[in-house]
Amino acid sequence: MKGTTKRIHNSGSVPSSDCLFCKIIAGKLPSYKVYEDARYLAFLDINPFATGHTLVCPKKHGETLWDMDEHEIGELFAVASRISRSVVSAMNADGFRILQNNGEAANQVVPHVHVHVIPNMLEDKGKFAPRQKLSPEEMQRAAEAISKELLG
Ligand code: 5GP
Ligand code: ZN
Repeated sequence: MKGTTKRIHNSGSVPSSDCLFCKIIAGKLPSYKVYEDARYLAFLDINPFATGHTLVCPKKHGETLWDMDEHEIGELFAVASRISRSVVSAMNADGFRILQNNGEAANQVVPHVHVHVIPNMLEDKGKFAPRQKLSPEEMQRAAEAISKELLG
């Protein structure tokens, strides 16, 4: 296929043993978990654009979409779409954004593939809100509300 020799630049590339999200997936670092199955983990973004901002990660380490086969990419977005229903419902939001960055040029900060699910309110009028810092209690409450929706 044309263009397959081009590589994506990530100066923060690390082996999976040093990867932040691999450590979260392995339970070596804490997270506010909202969903887990054999192949995926979803947890709250530590520095969210909105309460309930969730990151959906394949457990298998890969930096960008280009490290995944097309079936895996389809499944990742299907899981993110399923989770978006619970995020919107639990946050009483009016819509949501799906964001997925590949490479430093696209502002990918953590080089382990992840899909952002960001709830939006009508009053946001489509604007990107600044990043927030929520209290541990607010994070815990949001994570519980989303995971409860996912179970129900
Ligand atoms: P990217 O810019 O790579 O697409 O997104 C990485 C996201 O991971 C950012 O939105 C950032 O706030 C979030 N993040 C960075 N470090 C941590 C962490 O240690 N825990 C959690 N839960 N999120 C993190
Ligand atoms: Zn990783």
